[in-house]
Amino acid sequence: MGTATQQKTYLNYINGEWKSSSSNKDQASTNPANPEEEVGYYQLSSKEDVNNAVLAAAAAKKQWSKTAAPERGALLHKAADILENNVDDIAETMTREMGKTLPEAKGETMRGVAILRYYAGEGMRKTGDVIPSTDKDALMFTKRASLGVVGVITPWNFPAAIPVWKIAPALVYGNTVVFKPAQDAAITAAKIVECLAEAGLPKGVLNFVTGSGSVVGQGITDHPQVDGITFTGSEEIGRGIGQSALARGAKYQLEMGGKNPVIVADDADLDLAVSATISGGLKSTGQKCTATSRVIIQEGIYETFKEKLLAEVKKITVGDGLKQDSWMGPCANKSQFQTVADYIKKGKKEGAELIYGGKVLEDEKGYFVTPAVFDNVTSEMTIAQEEIFGPVLALMKVSSLDEALEVANDVPFGLSASIFTTNIQRSLQFIDEMDAGLVRINAESAGVELQAPFGGMKRSSSHSREQGEAAIEFFTSIKTVFMK
Ligand code: NAP
Ligand code: MG
Repeated sequence: MGTATQQKTYLNYINGEWKSSSSNKDQASTNPANPEEEVGYYQLSSKEDVNNAVLAAAAAKKQWSKTAAPERGALLHKAADILENNVDDIAETMTREMGKTLPEAKGETMRGVAILRYYAGEGMRKTGDVIPSTDKDALMFTKRASLGVVGVITPWNFPAAIPVWKIAPALVYGNTVVFKPAQDAAITAAKIVECLAEAGLPKGVLNFVTGSGSVVGQGITDHPQVDGITFTGSEEIGRGIGQSALARGAKYQLEMGGKNPVIVADDADLDLAVSATISGGLKSTGQKCTATSRVIIQEGIYETFKEKLLAEVKKITVGDGLKQDSWMGPCANKSQFQTVADYIKKGKKEGAELIYGGKVLEDEKGYFVTPAVFDNVTSEMTIAQEEIFGPVLALMKVSSLDEALEVANDVPFGLSASIFTTNIQRSLQFIDEMDAGLVRINAESAGVELQAPFGGMKRSSSHSREQGEAAIEFFTSIKTVFMK
């Protein structure tokens, strides 16, 4: 397959060596803006490759966990510099592989650099406390033990930031890693692993295996020597991983879908609310777990807000993310593209009114769809309940803030939520009553800062948190020491 073309074939990285899969099969990763274009080839790995990667990680874990944490941090600092030097190449690969625009891809890759630097610093910070004992002759304190071998399974929508925000804390807290990226972003992932490998991690500390979720992902999840699995992706896959991990007593962390609302109160700065709704809902073609998908608007300003929103949505240019004048790129793959089309159909069928967009660009080969705005959406409709993961905004009318909150919370997910209001009382009520892991006032639903905890409530998560200081909770266990 891969040998007949000039596109590069990317290998697995196992025990410090780049290797072909034992299956000897590879697969093209293609460009959603032009599906005939191959970005590169990745290994279609087997269970045997997974086993080799896990055994390498298991063999390296003792020595790595005994390596001084500042030394582990220093390697992450080095990896950050290497990644920074490769930003342009990695960003372009990301745009070609999964479609987000080049400025977004660059911003995301630089986020990866910043995350590496943050966790490099963690190698110098305290990891325990001294606690007074009832025994005057005893010293009681906590220390953190590494988890061991960590399986990292990631989605395609943030192909640089998500792998890095899992791998960097895993490594600095003394774990070894087996990383399986989404196939739709496997080449970008390979380039990130190249940067980490070049930094000089000891062999076996970071292993990289590409291929299908059902073989490679499931293989990692079920392997008896994988001590923990950190997963970001869809709810359906996440639940299965959680169940498999629980069944064999492995630790797991799941970050899954969202159905994120923005509430626009009648006292809101409407121009701000419009620009934040567009940016939060439609950047990255709506393919962010924190993307705004429901716009809950108080009736007094509903029509005015709608007109202002439509005027701005109509200005959005859709096209290949490598082109400077494309504000929005394609859906990341064919199945995502079909899913969006299906939800648009379903929305119309259930009585919502499509007032703009949702059209396929017929002249293009790529998976392009124009941003869709639905009017008169009610909470029981499918498009108000299920995660679409595409450029679709559902406008919903409410009479009061109480009703807005009721509608906002009337979904199984609880990842992020925004309100636009100039009233402090309303802001405080929203903070208290909104069931979401990330609540934002006068800011779009899709903002995340690497130094703050990130994760969802309800079915969006396994109720743990990633990023910032919170990451240590998953990647280590507390040992309570009593010494006399
Ligand atoms: P996905 O289909 O669930 O896939 C996620 C990863 O799991 C991929 O690497 C996939 O492999 C792998 N996988 C599939 N089946 C598996 C199995 N049986 N065992 C182990 N691994 C398996 O999600 P996606 O389509 O890539 O990403 C979109 C979803 O991610 C959305 O639901 C979005 O909300 C969610 N997301 C959540 C967050 C968050 O932090 N909460 C952030 C970003 C995205 P292959 O695809 O390569 O086969
Ligand atoms: Mg692709």
